[in-house]
Amino acid sequence: MWVQPSLLPAAEGAAIEKDTRFVLDYPEAELVFGLVFAVGTDYKPALDYLKDQIKLSGYAADSLQLSDWFGESIERLGFQHALPTEPEYERIASRISAGNKIRATTGRQDILALIAASKIFSTREIGEDENPIAHKRRAHILVSLKRPEEVESLRKIYGPGFFLIGIFADESERIDFLTNRKGLEKEQAASLINIDQKQTAEEYGQRTRDTFQMADLFVGVADKEYEKGLQRFLRLIFGDPFITPSRDEHSMFLAYAASLRSGDLARQVGAALTCAQGDLISLGCNDVPSPGGGLYCADDGDDDARDHKLRKDSNDARKDEIIDDVILAFSKKFLPTRDPEEILKEARPLLRETLVSDVTEFGRAVHAEMDAIITAGRTGVSFSNSTLYTTTFPCHTCTRHIIAAGVKRVVYIEPYPKSLAKELHSDAIRISGEKQKNDRRVPFEPFLGIGPRRFFDLFSMKLSSGYVIERKHDGTVVDWDQRRNSKPRVPMAPTSYLEREQLIQITLNSVFSIKREENANDAKTTGIAGQERRGVLDTPREDSPPSRKVARMEDRRTGDNLAAGDDRK
Ligand SMILES: [Zn+2]
Repeated sequence: MWVQPSLLPAAEGAAIEKDTRFVLDYPEAELVFGLVFAVGTDYKPALDYLKDQIKLSGYAADSLQLSDWFGESIERLGFQHALPTEPEYERIASRISAGNKIRATTGRQDILALIAASKIFSTREIGEDENPIAHKRRAHILVSLKRPEEVESLRKIYGPGFFLIGIFADESERIDFLTNRKGLEKEQAASLINIDQKQTAEEYGQRTRDTFQMADLFVGVADKEYEKGLQRFLRLIFGDPFITPSRDEHSMFLAYAASLRSGDLARQVGAALTCAQGDLISLGCNDVPSPGGGLYCADDGDDDARDHKLRKDSNDARKDEIIDDVILAFSKKFLPTRDPEEILKEARPLLRETLVSDVTEFGRAVHAEMDAIITAGRTGVSFSNSTLYTTTFPCHTCTRHIIAAGVKRVVYIEPYPKSLAKELHSDAIRISGEKQKNDRRVPFEPFLGIGPRRFFDLFSMKLSSGYVIERKHDGTVVDWDQRRNSKPRVPMAPTSYLEREQLIQITLNSVFSIKREENANDAKTTGIAGQERRGVLDTPREDSPPSRKVARMEDRRTGDNLAAGDDRK
């Protein structure tokens, strides 16, 4: 029920009480974590460690396996699908195909995330007003996500309370885990890994690789790297004011910031080149070069001749020309009696599915990695022994320039399957996990740490969308203790903005009534006429009390003002 906004004066002679139901602080707010990892990743130790870290902040943690609900989903959808529990290959393969079939049957790529949300809902108690009640100090961990649409939907449902954690293991580690620990044949392991990363032939197949790059935190299983990563992440989530970005994290954030400048039609890529000490040398993004050096940007006005201004992707146009050229040459020789236009119509879609679609050389944009290198050269800064941070794995063209420039290390987030860097330059670069004795090759490493996405929320003292943090108070450095002071930095509000607006009416009513009473009392003692203080806030009384739902909201919000009190002050 909609309540007409009004500031109701208290009834004559009624007792006025302070109403504090409206809060914007949720110190016991729930958290939802999603895990994403490739098949064959030994994720369980990281999951256990995550739960331990959550408990250190006085929270309970439960993990929910999405595949546990496949059986009932299959039954409710009314199709047949076996879910054997052994052998391991059959177990994994049957669950991949079951997930695909559930997505395909429902026509929703995010269906498994929606089922997970409904399972969380089923754990809720229902209040007297028949509204569900938020848990206090509880974290739900969803294991595991396989489609970008699942992440997108969970972010829309849980907003700032949802965090995606990517657990990285390189391919050799995953094959080792599946063969030596789980008893699979090497071919079986390789086949599962391929299907899991990207089942391009299946519209509703898994897209783990595309999901992984959306993570808020990236941790590795090698050498238990996840311990350090999860520990820092959890402390940040719970408001530790003293955790600052590592060199890799800060440099990747700068690369990401640079990517936002790009007006490229297909993707925004950013790169940051840093020296051996970690200082920034230059930034780059993918966009069209401008005469005089550098790239076009928004300041160029009418001179700006980027692809979005010309409304054309030259690479796509050239690929279509190549395809038509090949088809016409072929049909002239082998199908001279058929109408060339008809052949083009039939053959174009076929050729667009071939390797021709991977051609990237006819784009007008300078790639981000090259822009960063060229910018350093143009401005005369040496970049030997540098590290290049790039939001996307370098293409083979950039790779040869990276090697020639003397870059010593490359760090990336998003994989780029079209890149032939590994195939063409395995003599000069090594992809994580392949280090050999006296290896001079440039390592291309996946990024580990806190991703650029939540940088402001977690690292900024003042610009976080959560609360402001202090590092010292009255000249004294504050004491932050995980057990005592944990409070979600960017809490998930259990109420909607409409409900919060309604609660404001109750609170304003209470505040203004109390002040009015106090002023009336003051007037009696000072002798000022009461009517002089009447103002716009004394709107006519309406018989529209806030709805029962809002009045009950006190029970539904998590935490209270006392708990919100900051004991580091
Ligand atoms: Zn490139």
